[in-house]
Amino acid sequence: MDQSKQQEEDFGYNLFPDRHTRKFKKGSVSESLFTFNHKCQVMLHFALETSPYAKLLLGAMKQSGCTVYKDRHFSCEDCDGIVSGGFDATSSQIVLCQNNIHQQSHMNRVVTHELIHAFDHCRAHVDWFNNFKHLACSEIRAANLSGDCSFGNEAARFNFGLKQHHQACVRDRALRSILAVRKVTQEEAEKVVDEVFDSCFNDHAPFGRIPHSKKDANFAYREFQNRDRYFANL
Ligand SMILES: [Zn+2]
Repeated sequence: MDQSKQQEEDFGYNLFPDRHTRKFKKGSVSESLFTFNHKCQVMLHFALETSPYAKLLLGAMKQSGCTVYKDRHFSCEDCDGIVSGGFDATSSQIVLCQNNIHQQSHMNRVVTHELIHAFDHCRAHVDWFNNFKHLACSEIRAANLSGDCSFGNEAARFNFGLKQHHQACVRDRALRSILAVRKVTQEEAEKVVDEVFDSCFNDHAPFGRIPHSKKDANFAYREFQNRDRYFANL
């Protein structure tokens, strides 16, 4: 499939209307925007300082030569619809949708999800725009490793078992993410996701495991730190 013919507006950035217009609005609107923005910054700071998922990803990126800076690589903005965040590969920036993220746990998951895209961008030189498989792979990894699929829906777990539920959830989330940012049909998206699913689902870097819970993520983070220490002693 030739993706290269698509115009820039097909790449999902229309979901972030404030991307290229950074003008302050007047009156009470700007005050409430400031409040949203401030709250978003505070939650982002807390996520980066305390989430073991985020700390591990930041450490792994630093090790790969892609040090992440809070002010340079994150941007709290208003977004359309119910989108929570995005990774803008052209500017290497993570967009956090301040109007749609209201809870710390949600912020932590969005930051982790987008940092996985940033990690893939850093280590694999992902061709987001021309290679549809690269995008599908990163969406599978982000859904699998960010905790997006590790909470809630007890009924589904009861019905299908934890493992099957997790895989089905990852596939479904990856599909929805792709359909949100690319003008492709459900069938086209399913075909690509299924082609790369097994290899990308089993790629757990940099966690070394699927962090199903904060406890798992803490284990993974400790292992990562020890790995680091071991290499430092060589
Ligand atoms: Zn994503």
